[in-house]
Amino acid sequence: MSASTGRLLALIRTLGETTRAELASTAGLARSTVATQLGQLLSDDLITEGGTAQSTGGRPATLIRFNESAGVVLVADLGATHSRLAVCDFGATPLITEPIEMDIGIGPDAALDRLGEVWERLLAATGKTAADVRGIGLGVPGPVEFAAGRAVHPPIMPGWDGFEIGTELTRRYGVPGLVDNDVNIMALGERSAMIDAPNDMVFVKVGTGIGSGLILGGRIHRGATGTAGDIGHVQIATDGTPCRCGNVGCLEAAAGGAALARELTAAGLDASQSRDVVDLVRSGERFAIHAVRRAGRVIGEALASIVNLLNPTLIVVGGDLAGAGEQLIAGIREVIYQRSTALATHVLEIRTSKLGDHAGVVGAAMMALDRILDPAAVDAALERSG
Ligand SMILES: [Zn+2]
Repeated sequence: MSASTGRLLALIRTLGETTRAELASTAGLARSTVATQLGQLLSDDLITEGGTAQSTGGRPATLIRFNESAGVVLVADLGATHSRLAVCDFGATPLITEPIEMDIGIGPDAALDRLGEVWERLLAATGKTAADVRGIGLGVPGPVEFAAGRAVHPPIMPGWDGFEIGTELTRRYGVPGLVDNDVNIMALGERSAMIDAPNDMVFVKVGTGIGSGLILGGRIHRGATGTAGDIGHVQIATDGTPCRCGNVGCLEAAAGGAALARELTAAGLDASQSRDVVDLVRSGERFAIHAVRRAGRVIGEALASIVNLLNPTLIVVGGDLAGAGEQLIAGIREVIYQRSTALATHVLEIRTSKLGDHAGVVGAAMMALDRILDPAAVDAALERSG
């Protein structure tokens, strides 16, 4: 197994730029075995060979790289009303992206039809064809049973409960279709863009509602039924504020974008959604700044418990409200450092998302690529292509 061609490709992806000699010594393989496997990867266009490395003497060695242009994946980060679609290369880099307005309540068939139309147009704009598409990655705003690619009791996705999204994508496109919760893919995307990616991190999405994606030991932690990280419905206040989930005192009912927009509207300001709240904060509106700082402290209370429980090295805050930047983060930081143990906060970094609106599509691409480029999948594909 350790000698498989798929494993050699995984090693090349990890190393970035390498040489035959380095591959042989790192993988512990004979040069002749490496040569045979590289031949297979070259003939399938999965790697490129060219240019030379700085040599420490003797003949300069030819460089080997993973071919990020070997294919594309079609991805989408679906929200309740706003979604973002993209065509990404094998490096998870978006070649083209497009935001669309779509009510997810139209149900899976109509929604997937719409995605198909947009993907077809985007694909054509990149000069690629359906034959270049090797996988589909989709993030949805609700809990997902990952292995089955199925939404499970999603509260804001009427008509999607139990629908086998992954299977339907595979049926439509003839390639692997992967589906996960939107915050999980954002966590994955953010992590993939880091050079020294931490093994333990929390991605908090503060938008209309609040959710989090947990990466523990380098892997997404989904929990028994796919709802792990659902921090928005942790009880935080005892003031009896009703939440859309039916409970009272939930974090998102106190500090989510919808709650803030309502609070500002009640104070006579013009705010119907998270982005309006951010615009008011950026324009220096004092009541809005005060409300967002308070929301930050409330979110910090919930995160302080997460920090004590999971001991992450990084908390990334994303979602529309992260656009309020320091005004939101300051409150979060303040309470986490007050409430969490010194040992847990010693190495903790808290910052806003670097990928912003693109975290979801990059993560959806990573999710699909992890499946397509899994060593066993690569070996099976090479076997088929002979
Ligand atoms: Zn709730």
